[in-house]
Amino acid sequence: MTLDNLLKTRADLEERIRKLIGRAAMIIELDLFALPCGCSGYTANTRGLALDDLEVFEEHFLKLLNESAQAVNISTGFVFARIIPGTQEIAALNVRELCPRCYSDFASTRGKRPRPDIYIFHLARRKR
Ligand SMILES: [Zn+2]
Repeated sequence: MTLDNLLKTRADLEERIRKLIGRAAMIIELDLFALPCGCSGYTANTRGLALDDLEVFEEHFLKLLNESAQAVNISTGFVFARIIPGTQEIAALNVRELCPRCYSDFASTRGKRPRPDIYIFHLARRKR
């Protein structure tokens, strides 16, 4: 993984989302992260995306996010969007490899909206 690769991945993801939804949307920042609990992944901070877009193009978004995560060597165990609370605006798209504790928190929930600020595209279930 190089920074050039990260820059290219951000640009590719943005371009493909624009083509998909047919209007301007921005990835204003693509961040790789590692958390104290053991989770890691990437966050693509977005502007101009709405919950409707995700619901209409869900399969396409999941494919795009999986592919861009692979481009920066992140495994795609948990793919979700963060919604700005009280709005239909998407704040960020996330691909995260969950630590065991966070996995059990999310695995015990149901549905696509376990919390008002989260929209789940995909959660890979682990064997117990
Ligand atoms: Zn965690």
